[in-house]
Amino acid sequence: MQQPHDHDHGDHGHEHDHGHDHGHDHRAAPMVEEITDFEVLEIAVRELAIEKGLFTAEDHRVFTEWAEQIGPAAGSRLVAKAWVDPAFKARVLSDAVAACAEIGVDWKEPTGSGTPSDYMNLRVLEDTPTLHHVIVCTLCSCYPRPLLGHSPYWYRSPNYRRRLVRWPRQVLTEFGLNLPSNVEIRVEDSNQKCRFMVLPLRPAGTDGWTEQRLAEIVTRDVMIGVALPRADRKSDDVRPVHKARRPVEHAGQPVAAAQ
Ligand code: FE
Repeated sequence: MQQPHDHDHGDHGHEHDHGHDHGHDHRAAPMVEEITDFEVLEIAVRELAIEKGLFTAEDHRVFTEWAEQIGPAAGSRLVAKAWVDPAFKARVLSDAVAACAEIGVDWKEPTGSGTPSDYMNLRVLEDTPTLHHVIVCTLCSCYPRPLLGHSPYWYRSPNYRRRLVRWPRQVLTEFGLNLPSNVEIRVEDSNQKCRFMVLPLRPAGTDGWTEQRLAEIVTRDVMIGVALPRADRKSDDVRPVHKARRPVEHAGQPVAAAQ
């Protein structure tokens, strides 16, 4: 099961140099990673629930398999279909749960195995040339999992949650999304009753594309609203890797040359 990540991943501001001598021995790393309190709690509650007959170990296995295979592909298909089919788009905007059923996602029972569902009121938010949506859960980590899979770690971080609602334009800029000042940014706060997903504008340069080809450019970040789709960018593109400006050194030598 996914563990909540309630610590801040950003803003660490680490700038120190690891090349210096600490002047003391480093402890050997533990052979086995220690189990966290959350993991202990999950095991304890799970075993109690099985003992009490709330669900079986097999139910748990089936649910875990479902939870481990979900991803954003269903959301991409939903957006691509809405782009090419105006009648479907109208259904997505008026009754997203029913529209999802048309592409094989059942919000009323997303696991397909009778386990407690994630069912919530799903609303798809349509972007326009002058309105951009972005989603957050300020309280915790609510996310449209049947469509988008598990949320990225930064979505669950207090940093994103508290800052997006206060400074949406600045936070989007940190994601590399610079919106013109005439575009209104609307932040939707997910909650116990509602899940949101963004329906972005179909980008230029995609005329005549098939639904499948369109779905490839509808990335997870696009459906959260921290990026815009582009004809030249797919989710599995190779990202550029920049060389470290200050490579780690060991005894004055670059790490690759040491040993
Ligand atoms: Fe939440």
